[in-house]
Amino acid sequence: MPRKPLLEFTDRGIYCPKGDFYIDPWKPVDYAVITHAHADHAYWGHKHYLAHHLSREVLYYRLGEINLQTVEYGETLNRNGIAITLFPAGHVIGSAQVRLECEGEIWVVSGDYKVEDDGVCTPFEPVRCHHFISECTFGMPVYKWKPQLQVFEEMNNWWRHNLDNDLATVIVGYSLGKAQRILQNLDLFNGTVYTHGVIENTNQALRKNGVSLHPTERITPEISKELVRKGIIIAPPSAVGTPWMRKFGPYSFGYCSGWMAIRGAKRRRAADRGFVLSDHADWDGLISAIDATGCERVYLTHGYTATFARYLNEIGFDAHEVHTLYGNEEEEPGSADDAV
Ligand SMILES: [Zn+2]
Ligand SMILES: [Zn+2]
Repeated sequence: MPRKPLLEFTDRGIYCPKGDFYIDPWKPVDYAVITHAHADHAYWGHKHYLAHHLSREVLYYRLGEINLQTVEYGETLNRNGIAITLFPAGHVIGSAQVRLECEGEIWVVSGDYKVEDDGVCTPFEPVRCHHFISECTFGMPVYKWKPQLQVFEEMNNWWRHNLDNDLATVIVGYSLGKAQRILQNLDLFNGTVYTHGVIENTNQALRKNGVSLHPTERITPEISKELVRKGIIIAPPSAVGTPWMRKFGPYSFGYCSGWMAIRGAKRRRAADRGFVLSDHADWDGLISAIDATGCERVYLTHGYTATFARYLNEIGFDAHEVHTLYGNEEEEPGSADDAV
C-alpha cells in the first residue's frame, strides 16, 4: 500500500495527518505552525501556535493573547514522530520555512521568502527536501529585482530632492517587512524618520523582541507639519489617500512594492514615485531556490501558480498547483484614522 503523504492540502490549510498539526491554516485549528506574522499566514483562533521567536511580539500585537510557543532556527521539535525544524525564509523578521521529517522523508513549506539578503532579517537558507511547497507571488519573468542598494540610493536621492524643494516625503510600504527595510536603509543624515502609528507599533513590538532598529518618531496629532517636512514619513498602504496623509501636503509620495515593476502600477496607486522593492523572490530567485532544494516535487501555493507550474514542468521539475488562501499579503491592524 502506498504511504500516505506527510502533508495534505485541506480546506483549513496545509495539514500533517501523522503529526496532527497545520501550517499557516486559515481556519481555527488545535495546533498551528506559523511561518510568519503576515495576516494571510497568521490567523486568529488557533488553540496552540508555534513560530520563530522573533515573530513573538508582532504576533501578540496582531492577534492578542494567544497560546504561543517559539523556537530558534535549526531547533528541532518532535510532534507525534514528526521532526519539525524552522529555517530562515529571508522574507520578514522572524519568517521561517518549515521542514518536516519522518522516516527519511523530508518536506519543506516555504511560507513567503526572498533570496536577497536584505540586511534586516536572517537570510534565506535553502533546505534539501523531497517535497517543496513554495509560493510564487512573482513567478513571471517580468519580475526581476535590482539589488536593494540601488533602490535605496534612488530613494535617498528622491528624499534629498524633496527636502531641497520644501516638499514633505511620504514613503509607503507594509508595516512588517518593508517598513523596517526602508528604515534601516534611509540616509539618516538627511533628517528624522517619522512613522505612522501602525508602523511604529510594529517597530515597538520588534524592539521589544530585541531587534535593534534605527530611531523613529511616532507621528502624533500635536506634531508640527513643518518639522515633519524636514524628515521623511513611513506610512502603510492603508494610509494612502486618507486625511491623515493629506494634512502633510504638499508632499511627494513614493510607493514600495514588487508590483511597481509592471507598467501602470504607480499610476493606479496615484504615487509620484514607484520603488521596485519586494520581500518575495523574483523569477530567478524562485527558480534558484526551488533548484537548490533538490526536490522531487514542487507544490505552488500562491501567485502565478499556473504559469509558473507550466514553466517548471517544461524545464524538468514535477510541479503542481495547489489551492490556498494565501496571497493577500497584509491587512493592517486598525484603521488609518485610529492610528495617528
Ligand atoms: Zn508574507
Ligand atoms: Zn503570503
